[in-house]
Amino acid sequence: QPSSLAGLPAGVGEALEAEGVAELYPPQEAAVEAGVADGESLVAAVPTASGKTLIAELAMLSAVERGGKALYIVPLRALASEKKTEFERWEEFGVTVGVSTGNYESDGEWLASRDIIVATSEKVDSLIRNGAPWIDDLTCVVSDEVHLVDDPNRGPTLEVTLAKLRKVNPGLQTVALSATVGNADVIAEWLDAELVESDWRPIDLRMGVHFGNAVDFADGSKREVPVERGEDQTARLVADALDTEEDGQGGSSLVFVNSRRNAESSARKLTDVTGPRLTTDERDRLRELAEEIRSGSDTDTAADLADAVEKGSAFHHAGLRSEDRARVEDAFRDRLIKCISATPTLAAGVNTPARRVIVRDWRRYDGEFGGMKPLDVLEVHQMCGRAGRPGLDPYGEAVLLANDADTKEELFERYLWADPEPVRSKLAAEPALRTHVLATVASGFASTRDGLLSFLDNTLYATQTDDEGRLAAVTDTVLDYLAVNDFVERDRDDGSESLTATGIGHTVSRLYLDPMSAAEMIDGLRSVARDAGAATAGADGEAGEFVRTGDDGDEPGFGTYARPGEDGSPDEGEVEGEAEETGGKATDEAATDSPEVTPLGCYHLVSRTPDMYELYLKSGDREEYTELCYEREAEFLGDVPSEYEDVRFEDWLASLKTARLLEDWANEVDEDRITERYGVGPGDIRGKVDTAEWLLRAAETLARDVEGIDGDAVVAVREARKRIEYGVREELLDLAGVRNVGRKRARRLFEAGIETRADLREADKAVVLGALRGRERTAERILEHAGREDPSMDDVRPDKSASAAAT
Ligand code: ADP
Repeated sequence: QPSSLAGLPAGVGEALEAEGVAELYPPQEAAVEAGVADGESLVAAVPTASGKTLIAELAMLSAVERGGKALYIVPLRALASEKKTEFERWEEFGVTVGVSTGNYESDGEWLASRDIIVATSEKVDSLIRNGAPWIDDLTCVVSDEVHLVDDPNRGPTLEVTLAKLRKVNPGLQTVALSATVGNADVIAEWLDAELVESDWRPIDLRMGVHFGNAVDFADGSKREVPVERGEDQTARLVADALDTEEDGQGGSSLVFVNSRRNAESSARKLTDVTGPRLTTDERDRLRELAEEIRSGSDTDTAADLADAVEKGSAFHHAGLRSEDRARVEDAFRDRLIKCISATPTLAAGVNTPARRVIVRDWRRYDGEFGGMKPLDVLEVHQMCGRAGRPGLDPYGEAVLLANDADTKEELFERYLWADPEPVRSKLAAEPALRTHVLATVASGFASTRDGLLSFLDNTLYATQTDDEGRLAAVTDTVLDYLAVNDFVERDRDDGSESLTATGIGHTVSRLYLDPMSAAEMIDGLRSVARDAGAATAGADGEAGEFVRTGDDGDEPGFGTYARPGEDGSPDEGEVEGEAEETGGKATDEAATDSPEVTPLGCYHLVSRTPDMYELYLKSGDREEYTELCYEREAEFLGDVPSEYEDVRFEDWLASLKTARLLEDWANEVDEDRITERYGVGPGDIRGKVDTAEWLLRAAETLARDVEGIDGDAVVAVREARKRIEYGVREELLDLAGVRNVGRKRARRLFEAGIETRADLREADKAVVLGALRGRERTAERILEHAGREDPSMDDVRPDKSASAAAT
């Protein structure tokens, strides 16, 4: 057992040894020497798969052994559960682990008792805003994939969150794990941390370019992979890896492409390569897996995935349902799926090593750039880093594709011989500062303008910038915005301008809303009363400067409530109890003759906030949605921009597209019909629904807290939310709320005459079973959840249920 494992809870060293950690990898050794197991702060910038997780574990476990508490911050929700499961193996040595995924109320308290907590940066930010008491007890924080501070959408949150944690707990051990980047030293300077930087990897990585009949590797070696005329380069390389046995089996490949559509078509094409190479046993197991995927969802995406999986090929992108993504990853690790075609999302995070990585597309469409833009070196290196499975492959191969000599030259220059870019803070932008300035003031981290600026001095931005004035200038613009919208009060009387969050400002911060979203929602909701004749001063929403997020963006780590019954999240009643009862409190004064608030109006309202990742207009959409816009003009909350305000109008229509998707969902339109109609994946529907649910819940809270909002509007917002929560029309709300029922089963039960939860308790079991297509276990569970005393189906004869189903 390595002596450097002293200071860990008893038994951990032996357990690590049993896992195959005979000695520490060199970067791990360096981290220990730098004091990572003695509470020292550290930045570890080392390649993918070279054991960063163990560095974090050494820090956290030794912190816990010293009586402390650790927080592990991940960039994606999908990674949170993966990491939690990984760390749970320490529970047998007395270390407790918790993951924070749901909403604040559901886990704020019990997390206080955990030794190690895993959460996304957005979640941690929210917990700080809501005053989670255990934040003060932290002694160690780990930031995974810290190079993502460079991301314009998510980076600023990580940056500010780390600054806050370090401000609350002076002396907090900060361990930041990073891919190899151009300026790890600057990150270390920012975090007052030691730096361990290394190119070391457990298995060699050979990077090369395929052109013509061979791959030329950067190390000078060459591998002949001849491509026949008309043959596909990617297919040839995947076949070549599969036909080369290193450990008694052929090697798997990961193919990176630049869009979801390309991932799907690539996976389909590659079935021609993988299918014929499967053994009978593999074919049987894959058929089972495909069946699981098909029975989980009736969308085209799921069907396409299942068809490919059956033949040993799969695609992987953010539009897949998370269950299916996990299935694909597991089967790939089990070597059952031979090839995954993926969008770059897969490169960040999830542990799916392959023998060969093929970077098919090195350019991606970028709207702001106005065309195809080359990927960052950092990104391509991370994809390549997925090559080589420790203990299985002698080395990993990463291959880029060129179809002419010039491109080959360019790829060598651009990616193979180049160093990754430096990361740069994106904090000094209005959308980022709008939300973080409000939260910083509301949570008491600053009470004056000067205090605010000196707090912002603890960010990476301040460490890197030469332009001292810029952060202050953007901060002032943002303060103006927050003051105009009554989120912050400024008092300029004394020397240093003082800042206080208003009641609504506090609410907005705690709800984790972008202040601009809140302003838009308040304005829209007030317009109901205004249109009814009760004029109210509206907020000045500077619409039009929203940030647009990429189409294949990762799911944000916050803002989504797990659906009831999933992930062990609390049942519906527990989550919303409070909102339920107090909803009616809103003022009724202006409710004389208000226009009707419809679900579409509510969905549009939340869809046009910057917190909703919206759909893009495709060709032909402009006409279609312009027409719809005029048809349903009366339903919109707030003023419709004029057609001549080009950008604003276009945004309005894009939001209308999202709103109509939500309306379709609430009208029980089939999932596959929706995916077809809007060109989205099933995972997107769920993402939009979850976000809309969160925003409508927030809108309801705002409606209760601010003045001048019609009471009927509050009720309408709540109904609209409940309908998308279950994806049903009003008459099914009661039934669909029963666990395990869902939208389709609710409709079938309803059609069989069972219309409510109470009906379920009384109904003829044969009828229930018939409506549930004879699934006894499901029927029993549903009856149980509906509160039936005798849920058992034992007394129902199969022949009887069959005849009931027929009627
Ligand atoms: P990273 O986070 O850097 O991408 P991981 O921490 O996931 O990489 O490590 C990759 C693999 O290496 C894991 O399967 C891990 O168990 C294994 N590993 C890490 N450290 C050691 C070690 N010292 N000896 C043997 N295997 C190790």
